[in-house]
Amino acid sequence: MSERFFPDSMPPPLADTTTLPWWQAAAEHRLVVQRCTSCEHTRLPPAPVCPECRSADSDWKEVSGRGEVYTYTIVHRPIAAGQELPYVIAVIALEGAGGVRIISNLVDVNPDEIEIGSPVELVWEDMSADLAIPRFRPMGR
Ligand SMILES: [Zn+2]
Repeated sequence: MSERFFPDSMPPPLADTTTLPWWQAAAEHRLVVQRCTSCEHTRLPPAPVCPECRSADSDWKEVSGRGEVYTYTIVHRPIAAGQELPYVIAVIALEGAGGVRIISNLVDVNPDEIEIGSPVELVWEDMSADLAIPRFRPMGR
């Protein structure tokens, strides 16, 4: 992406010990989901314990970044000065991620053309040298 989706005045996301590996992968433009090494359950956002089997053991599975729109909403009121409107918040069902969905934004899209089930692909927004945010756009844009 060439332009920032949100204005510079918005604070960046904060990482903690559980989410830091996810943010480090994102900075390398790799989208990962957390995978329990005991039962293979995948989850996002990262969490210290598997919600299925309570194991604290996990690793990271890289996914393609392709997916489809599970649901979405179109925002017409800004939450920060300088924000371009409208913008789209979407839940993306990630391909090959074991049913994991990610909440993000749809970019490079006319909000009137979005449909549930539409195929989308990942595009990274570099906020700084060590912070990249995953966004999604219609497949093939
Ligand atoms: Zn598990």
